[in-house]
Amino acid sequence: MKILVVGSGGREHALAWKIAQSPRIQTVFVAPGNGGTALDQRLENINITDPAALADFVEREHVALTVVGPETPLAAGIVNIFRNRGLKIFGPTREAAQLESSKDFAKSFMQRHHIPTAEYQTFSDVGAAHQYIDQKGAPIVIKADGLAAGKGVVVAMTVEEAHGAVDMMLSDNRLGDAGARVVIEEFLAGEEASFIVMVDGKNILPLATSQDHKRLKDDDQGPNTGGMGAYSPAPIVTPALHARVMREIITPTVQGMAKDGIPFSGFLYAGLMIDDKGNPKTLEFNCRMGDPETQPIMARLKTDLLTVMEHAVNGTLDTIELEWDRRTALGVVMAAAGYPDAPRKDDLITGIPAETVDTVTFHAGTTLNGERLTTAGGRVLCVVGLGDSVKMAQKQAYNVIDAIHFDGAQFRRDIGWRALKKHA
Ligand code: ATP
Repeated sequence: MKILVVGSGGREHALAWKIAQSPRIQTVFVAPGNGGTALDQRLENINITDPAALADFVEREHVALTVVGPETPLAAGIVNIFRNRGLKIFGPTREAAQLESSKDFAKSFMQRHHIPTAEYQTFSDVGAAHQYIDQKGAPIVIKADGLAAGKGVVVAMTVEEAHGAVDMMLSDNRLGDAGARVVIEEFLAGEEASFIVMVDGKNILPLATSQDHKRLKDDDQGPNTGGMGAYSPAPIVTPALHARVMREIITPTVQGMAKDGIPFSGFLYAGLMIDDKGNPKTLEFNCRMGDPETQPIMARLKTDLLTVMEHAVNGTLDTIELEWDRRTALGVVMAAAGYPDAPRKDDLITGIPAETVDTVTFHAGTTLNGERLTTAGGRVLCVVGLGDSVKMAQKQAYNVIDAIHFDGAQFRRDIGWRALKKHA
């Protein structure tokens, strides 16, 4: 059977790697893929990104099923195009993807369906936005309505910073259309966790829990990034909290979307803030898996992902259960020099060891030119270690990290610190 994975990051490498383990797989195409998917014999990169051209390819090659990694093609309607042509694809339609592509849509949806989230208002008028900030005070959070590649959220600790963020988005138009409207919301304190499920329009299949590390540097210092590492499971999500998130957030979201006439299928990611009393609120929805959460989650998944995907596109996710490696998986991202502001490209990468039962290295911003593997983007690799404890998983991952070299590599030494603190 032939499968297509759309995307080029570490998330897509991990999805393609897992799908390719199915005994029924003939080829997993990755569009456009990266250096790692080029190196893997079971995967084949194809240099197409336009959704209609991808649909042509899928028809021509008799690809049985397509899985979409990133949000941009989903928000652009790749699922609508494929479905209109009768092609099987796992992901939300353009309309359902608004849960991620419009923060205003997500917030009003949550309000309408009584899903716990921060109090908010949406503005397109600069004066009214400034007035609201003066009225509410700081800390306060300013969010561009549209997709802004992780640059659209300002957690303002002072009123001045909040006014500055509003000016940047609404007056100076620095984020273009994405910042033409802003959501201004209450600051929530607590600990974040990622809650990811698969949805087939109606049925919900939760994946293993995970926790990301957003800041560039150790001790959660430095600028926000796409994510510098993640591990699974996340001990903060206890069985009781898991049940509560399913009951108060995930189930009402899936039912609410169906009730509103835009049923959601695809990966649904709720970014949660859990306060010191253990109460969860929704910070955001993503309509795809997280990167880097996917990498440790896929490293732990034992069930055949192709079979799971088939159930997902056929609306029968209620008939299966997932089996997980009991070990902890911990992924550490190696980023390029200059990341996140101005990542440098074309540095030679050496020393990536072969996969073992305890370690696997997923590629993101890498390119293969003949035999030469070079950096090609901000986040370059995600090294995943598996172990019976967080500490053991960490040790496995960092042993591999220490063997890999490229000039200017940036990575954190403390991925997993929250879980370690909990067990200490
Ligand atoms: P992502 O890159 O994860 O998709 P995004 O740009 O869509 O992010 P959010 O996830 O909504 O934006 O916010 C980014 C980060 O800002 C969150 O991970 C969280 O750390 C912080 N944040 C967002 N909303 C709040 C809030 N209401 N209170 C406190 N911190 C917040």
